[in-house]
Amino acid sequence: MTLDHLERLKCLKRGISGINLDPLQRGGILTPEARDALMEWGDGYSVCDFCNGEIDRIRNPPIEDFVHGLLPEFLGIDEVRITHGAREGMYAAMHALCRPGDVVVVDGNAHYTAILAAERAGLEVEYVPASGSPHYKVNPAGYAEAFQRVKDRGGRIGMALLTYPDGNYGNIVDPREVSAFCHEEEVPFLLNGAYSVGRMPLNAGDLGVDIIVGSGHKSMASSGPIGVLGARGSYAKRIFAKSALKKNKEVELLGCTVRGAGLITMMASFPHVVERVGRWDEEVRKARALCSAFEGLGIVPQGDRPHSHDLIFFEAEVLYEISKKAKKGRYFLYRDLKARGICGIKAGLTRRFKLSTYMLKDNEIEAVIDAFADIIESHQG
Ligand SMILES: *Cc1c(COP(=O)(O)O)cnc(C)c1O
Repeated sequence: MTLDHLERLKCLKRGISGINLDPLQRGGILTPEARDALMEWGDGYSVCDFCNGEIDRIRNPPIEDFVHGLLPEFLGIDEVRITHGAREGMYAAMHALCRPGDVVVVDGNAHYTAILAAERAGLEVEYVPASGSPHYKVNPAGYAEAFQRVKDRGGRIGMALLTYPDGNYGNIVDPREVSAFCHEEEVPFLLNGAYSVGRMPLNAGDLGVDIIVGSGHKSMASSGPIGVLGARGSYAKRIFAKSALKKNKEVELLGCTVRGAGLITMMASFPHVVERVGRWDEEVRKARALCSAFEGLGIVPQGDRPHSHDLIFFEAEVLYEISKKAKKGRYFLYRDLKARGICGIKAGLTRRFKLSTYMLKDNEIEAVIDAFADIIESHQG
């Protein structure tokens, strides 16, 4: 790093840009408690002062209570460990439970990281296709058909995975039909809750889920990289199996995962996270309010109707038409939103983009709607 580089790490004015609509970022905004903890626990292996060899058993700071008490209760599952993110959780579960060459059956809207996790674990992927535009729906009955296709070609099914909701359209598929089917087939069922754990009420036990992953930096107000991995019964035993060579070390986690500030931020934000999950109805109401106002402007929500998540994908021919004539072309939307204190939609996108309303206040939702209306009018006037 040169001096110039170091200067460029300062004064980035993050946090004063007004309203940030980036779906990746809204649920990861730290609580004031977590922000303080970040400073106090920022040194390397800061949590390890009183470790006896098992990070999840550290009592001071109270990691043991968190990992073995609060999180399993919160997720409704037997055993939980901290990971570096949702993807690392998916990989650990696949690697522990599947044999190379097995097939993972995934929904057609699955995140790329689920596919990479399978690839890294030496597994093949079979999709349950999603319907096309505009709803991109995944039918739970599609899992039975996908299982049959794999069996017909002599394949072995190692796991089924559902993305809940998916990261593109915010679509929610009821996991219960899939989990019931997987249990009949004796195939472990993993729910990818990167966009739900820490946002929506969710109980893995009630949903029949065997393995659940969440993302701390995406949905649990944590400074990443961090995630959670929960598992049930015998699956937990296999995923969190101890080393034969190194006492008390869990192989799939390489002994320990997040070993510093990130973990403390998750713990510091946890009371807030539990509380905000209880207010999920409010989030759905705000998302729907924005959907209907945008639709009136010709910016059309895709995916589930009515929509039941703060992550929303839009198609906007009206903005695309403007981009053909506007100064700076397709960058007009980014520029015009920025001028109104709004960021988080990727620069250059106009026709198809996603945003999140998560944790925005009602007056901020209104400001976003007004800004889009104003931008459209200013270009058409
Ligand atoms: C963001 C995202 C991930 C990746 O989460 P990490 O915690 O960064 O690994 C996985 N799945 C979905 C659906 C996501 O949206």
